Amino acid sequence: MDYQQILENIYQTIQPYSKQGKQADYIPELAKVYPDQFGMSLHTIYGETASIEQADTRFSIQSISKVFTLAMCLSIKGDDLWSRVGKEPSGTAFNSLVQLEVEKGVPRNPFINAGALVMADILLSNLKNPEADYLNFVRAVSANETIDYNVNVANSERENGFLNAAIVNLLKYHGTIENNIEDVLHFYFLMCSIEMSCRELSLAFLAFANHRRKFDYAGITLTSSQVKRINAIMQTCGFYDEAGEFAYLVGLPGKSGVGGGIVAIHPLQYSVAVWSPRLNSKGNSVMGIKALELLTTETKASIF
Ligand code: GLN
Repeated sequence: MDYQQILENIYQTIQPYSKQGKQADYIPELAKVYPDQFGMSLHTIYGETASIEQADTRFSIQSISKVFTLAMCLSIKGDDLWSRVGKEPSGTAFNSLVQLEVEKGVPRNPFINAGALVMADILLSNLKNPEADYLNFVRAVSANETIDYNVNVANSERENGFLNAAIVNLLKYHGTIENNIEDVLHFYFLMCSIEMSCRELSLAFLAFANHRRKFDYAGITLTSSQVKRINAIMQTCGFYDEAGEFAYLVGLPGKSGVGGGIVAIHPLQYSVAVWSPRLNSKGNSVMGIKALELLTTETKASIF
């Protein structure tokens, strides 16, 4: 398969969508990013690679970090994790408060903000140096020591993070947060602020694309089943209230972030990352979804 040619063709085909959507501006630092950018990178488990346009420009991975966070929590807590957070799709926005009230503080899944805040709390309770340990894990799984937090983005989000503060307060009220809420918010925003490029993300997610390879990075280990189950949660919960649409159009497990990045996995085949800051109303990259839809159409291969 000539992935390089396929990616180049995709880029031409999606040009009519290049001005659709709007970048996230509720995090002021993200509003400064130039919106008309696009990058894409694919790595197969056999070592083939293809990259186009701004595949090497780093961006804020935002909620894509929730996959790394889940991997760490699952490694540390095993199945006990599921008493703190569910694994059902939410069908609501990533920052919705509605379900949380009804479900008394046990978030629907680890990929909505409420679920990720609970996971941040778990890591704070279980790691010696949460900020350093988290970064070490992401660097190890990416085989890249230069990956880092962007403290300006994290601070900018905290200054305006009223909704996430409301979520964590509601969780605390229900007794499902052990740590100080300011500490949980600080750590959560820091995790979201990690910056990576499409090439770096695509490489890192090979660890999730190939469940036959040993998962052991900076002391974080997962069994083959756990890796597959993370894929299952990406499939059902990776795109919030657009998870059904993404499964319909693209047919791969994946995870998006409001920085405009999306990673997707074809298990035992490849990992792909795409980035373009303009988002649709559900907070997912317009060109990113279009590009991935075309990828599985052109290659005639999805998980279905
Ligand atoms: N940091 C963002 C938030 O909590 C992450 C949201 C996202 O990427 N979907 O609002």
